[in-house]
Amino acid sequence: MTLTRLVVTGYNNRMDARIYLDHAATTPPSPEVRAAMEPYLSPDGFGNPSSLHADGQRAKRVLDAAHDTLAGALGCQFSEISFTSGGTESDNAALVGVMLANKSRGSHLITTAIEHEAVTETAQFLETLGFRVTTLPVDEFGTVSPQSVADALTDETVLVSVMHANNEVGTIQPLREIADVVHAHGAYLHTDAVQTFGQLPVTIDALGVDLLTLSAHKIYGPKGAGALYVRSGLAMEPLLHGGGQERQRRSGTENVPAIAGFGEAVRLLLPGRAAESQRLTALRDYFWTELAASIPGVVLNGHPTNRLPNNLNISLPGLDAETLLLSLDRAGVSASSGSACTSGSIEPSPVLTAMGLPEPRLKSALRLTLGRGTTREEVDRTVEILAGIVERLSCVKN
Ligand code: PLP
Repeated sequence: MTLTRLVVTGYNNRMDARIYLDHAATTPPSPEVRAAMEPYLSPDGFGNPSSLHADGQRAKRVLDAAHDTLAGALGCQFSEISFTSGGTESDNAALVGVMLANKSRGSHLITTAIEHEAVTETAQFLETLGFRVTTLPVDEFGTVSPQSVADALTDETVLVSVMHANNEVGTIQPLREIADVVHAHGAYLHTDAVQTFGQLPVTIDALGVDLLTLSAHKIYGPKGAGALYVRSGLAMEPLLHGGGQERQRRSGTENVPAIAGFGEAVRLLLPGRAAESQRLTALRDYFWTELAASIPGVVLNGHPTNRLPNNLNISLPGLDAETLLLSLDRAGVSASSGSACTSGSIEPSPVLTAMGLPEPRLKSALRLTLGRGTTREEVDRTVEILAGIVERLSCVKN
């Protein structure tokens, strides 16, 4: 064997041996997605979709096709979808855009204590502009009650933003009931469906929402692409001003390769979504059963059943999440403690704090999120590795 082959094989083996359990943070782009993006990075497909010539029109066709795919998936009109740079931008655009454009209706925004930072930080920014924000509590499972939404609504409420399922603990919210309450009051409902679109049926009619956020990299698509659904007729100020792309909603030359990849990721997702979610639910339940049987004191955070198919969030009271994560990483397992975007800093999670978990559970929480590539063998191996780490750390402590 040549040296090059040795090195390459060794590298591949090392990579293959790693176990990736952080699919809520991001997913590996599928080969079909990469292939769908490639033409628009090449000398033949680089055109600007706003250009009238053939090069531009080729790019425009791929944008239109992606619009069609997303509209078909969500059951909405083509013109109700705008492409963005990701979930963060879609959340920002929804909150800021609706509150600014509807000042004549009122200045009150309702959100929850378990939203992604893209919503909570935007709500705080709106407060600095003079808007009033109510942050709803959750129960010990991370569920928002429709009654708490009803109680918080006032004549001044313009928008309510409640995520479809939480990115840390996976709890699925009773969105349809919340939508009914919100609409009975004449307000609008936004949901961040970034974590659910890849795993649950997500249609505008079933959820009853007026605005909905998606992100491509959570569904095996590229990073830097997202979408915002806005119900036709809803007034919204754009965040970005300029050339008026995306029907005046989001100026800036579209990220054609990423949008092509996003469209392909959605096309690939839909036919197998229900079956894959069933597989993941069974694998996740097996994972939890094995963890509970092998690790004394392990506890499950979030709702026991009403949670995302791929999500396990556990605590190991008495141990420290950062130490656990680093030990898992050294043993070849990628996991997370809080939400991806904050996982660089291991502060107690605001989501788990809002659920009222005691400090030892806050400090030792791990998120393990499964995906398309996750196998039973990987689950078994992870249980074995984590049980070994816990035993070693517990001995060191005692
Ligand atoms: N919303 C939720 C629920 C998320 O989990 C994330 C990413 O972690 C985002 C929004 C941000 O999406 P993006 O990374 O595409 O900006």
